[in-house]
Amino acid sequence: MKETRRLQPDSWVIAGGRPNAPGSPLNTPLISASNFLHGGEQCYSREDGTETVRALESVVGGMEGGHGIAFSSGMAAAAAVLHTLGSGSEIALPHDCYHGVVSLVMEGEAKGLWTARRLDLADTKAWELAVTECDLVWIESPSNPLLVVADLPAICDPSHGRKAGALVCVDSTFATPLLQRPLAVGADVVMHSVTKYLGGHSDLLGGMLITATEDLRDQLMHTRTLTGAVPGALETFLALRGVRTVALRLEKSQTNAGALAQLLIAHHQVSAVRYPGLAAHPSHEVAARVLDGFGSMISFEVKGSGERADRLCAALRLVRHATSLGGVESTIERRSTIEGQGHLPPTLLRLSVGCENLKDLWDDLEQALSATATS
Ligand SMILES: *Cc1c(COP(=O)(O)O)cnc(C)c1O
Repeated sequence: MKETRRLQPDSWVIAGGRPNAPGSPLNTPLISASNFLHGGEQCYSREDGTETVRALESVVGGMEGGHGIAFSSGMAAAAAVLHTLGSGSEIALPHDCYHGVVSLVMEGEAKGLWTARRLDLADTKAWELAVTECDLVWIESPSNPLLVVADLPAICDPSHGRKAGALVCVDSTFATPLLQRPLAVGADVVMHSVTKYLGGHSDLLGGMLITATEDLRDQLMHTRTLTGAVPGALETFLALRGVRTVALRLEKSQTNAGALAQLLIAHHQVSAVRYPGLAAHPSHEVAARVLDGFGSMISFEVKGSGERADRLCAALRLVRHATSLGGVESTIERRSTIEGQGHLPPTLLRLSVGCENLKDLWDDLEQALSATATS
């Protein structure tokens, strides 16, 4: 079901996907059901979802301007996109990209399912070419964890021509539907890890694909049915509840992040700060043009060793030392401990800025920076 957004995004997240029949509850309830009595529109929830799943699909789909399909996790959504490929396909994939997606693609390549072409997200010309040559163009923007922003309008520009049947999929998890709407500039499908900002409370796993066309929606929905990747009842209910406040949460966390990026860059114990809102960030010009805000993720490097960065994580009190991101609570992690060294500097810390008070956040970062200072 496609519901068209009639309101500004920050109203739509609150008003979209709600029951309308007289006497119905104001909020779509948690429906825990596998089967339904024959004769109605739904039969079995692995196939049809539930009213709660459809409400979530409707509100997020409306935000992106397409057809939403809810999945049990972001990775389940990514796997469904890869499942569309025939054997011998070529996939374009960024160097800086969520490590789970990279593993899924590279392990598939090792099995001979497809080949991968790794590209620098900032190299717009290489992506413009990939759109004409590859079968799947997977873009993650802003990227995890280096926060590179892709020039989506240029890459998706229809005048460059697209390989027949090729898909452009954008993992827009870091942007949320509030900061970027890839379908509007020509992408075929958008992916979100609902686990992050859309859920917003670090208490669920979820994923979402939003397609430009009904045909692609039907194809991906079919994959969801066959692979059983439909989200559970409680997770769906919590995600729907989380989505209602995403605009409010992002406004606060983004304001915090903008201020913290400035404070961090001025701190003598910090050697580099990556935040798209900083004029010195390599993607700043693109980000200012293609995003409606710079988001609330910051990656920064501290002076000293990886071990010093670990001590910094341990010295923080308000900012929690934990993986994942996009919750109301600020979290920090030394990324190379998760992804391996690869292309990442050993002291790179990824900070997911939450909705706490800015002064409390900075006081905490400052005390941890000085408690672990190296000369
Ligand atoms: C977390 C994340 C994923 C994977 O989503 P899960 O919900 O953990 O399966 C994919 N892409 C990005 C950018 C992410 O941050």
